[in-house]
Amino acid sequence: MKTNIKKVIGLFILAVLVSFSLDAQTKPKVYILATGGTIAGTSSSQVDSDYKAGAITVNQLLSAVPEILDIAEIKGEQVANIGSQDMNDEVWLTLGKRVNELLKQNDVTGIVITHGTDTQEETAYFLNLVVKSDKPVVLVGSMRPSNAISADGPRNIYNAVACAIAPESKGKGVMVVMDDNILSADDLTKTNTLSVGTFQNPNYGHLGIMYDGKPIYTRESVKRHTTKSEFDVTNLTSLPRVDIILSYSNATAQFAESAAIAGAKGIVVAGVGNGNMTTVLMNALEKLRKEQDIAVVRSSRIMTGPTAQWDEIDDDKLNFVASWYINPYRARVLLMLALTKTNDYKEIQRMFAEY
Ligand code: GLU
Repeated sequence: MKTNIKKVIGLFILAVLVSFSLDAQTKPKVYILATGGTIAGTSSSQVDSDYKAGAITVNQLLSAVPEILDIAEIKGEQVANIGSQDMNDEVWLTLGKRVNELLKQNDVTGIVITHGTDTQEETAYFLNLVVKSDKPVVLVGSMRPSNAISADGPRNIYNAVACAIAPESKGKGVMVVMDDNILSADDLTKTNTLSVGTFQNPNYGHLGIMYDGKPIYTRESVKRHTTKSEFDVTNLTSLPRVDIILSYSNATAQFAESAAIAGAKGIVVAGVGNGNMTTVLMNALEKLRKEQDIAVVRSSRIMTGPTAQWDEIDDDKLNFVASWYINPYRARVLLMLALTKTNDYKEIQRMFAEY
């Protein structure tokens, strides 16, 4: 009798262990890399919009969404804990290298990166150009602090993880999941200072939506990215300095000249209209290109439409590059990476057409 009871208990323990290990095996493994931002922020009250970005850690953040443990095995890593206004090249290079390292592991299904929304479009595009894997990489943020009424962070994180584990999310390039939308890094812009639906792909339209915890895709990324990208951060320890100069009525050449003195290797112009600028600024940039080999990219302060070549400005004569659909913030990222390879304006122009 005693032996039977022992056998039954033994079998029960075995069954529990097997079911635990099967459970762990069957759940896809997702790494959440935390960098800070409002999604990790707390406010002094549940209704005010004042808050401290990056005040809580990845583990505290995850405790707000225990539901993700039902769909994935989660590993958390704190890469930084900053407001994304302070995002910088060092964190980008660390992130790029870490993401590549993790995605090489067979048992890792995808990566979710929590990030402030202010510069999310820049980080997403940087990763879109340097990640060397087809596995899903999803950035996520929130517009409301973690302790606000109707905080959007927990739902966004759940959706981001659900997106990262879906087989159909492979090969889509780096994505941002917020407000039930799946956005592509290739055309990402923050369009509203406060709204939870702030992110858009204003030229190409979003990649799809999250519906009942599943992605529904309605388009592919139209640009070169990830495994098709020629950029590689493996051996990089720094990135060339690129500054953005704004054009407006009466804009002078002073800021462009200061950028050159400060050591910029490239300048992106957030131009008026179709990447246009004051004559005095254009003449100064032509001089900087010719005399100091500073790369010049024309982009636009207008949110939609291309900054096209062969328009009012003769780029070939000036050795300038037109950014096409890449806004000034993403143009800066691409130019930084382009300059790790070449300073030939025709080569850089090719990259701006392809990425
Ligand atoms: N400025 C902060 C950041 O970008 C808060 C904005 C946000 O996360 O929404 O991290």
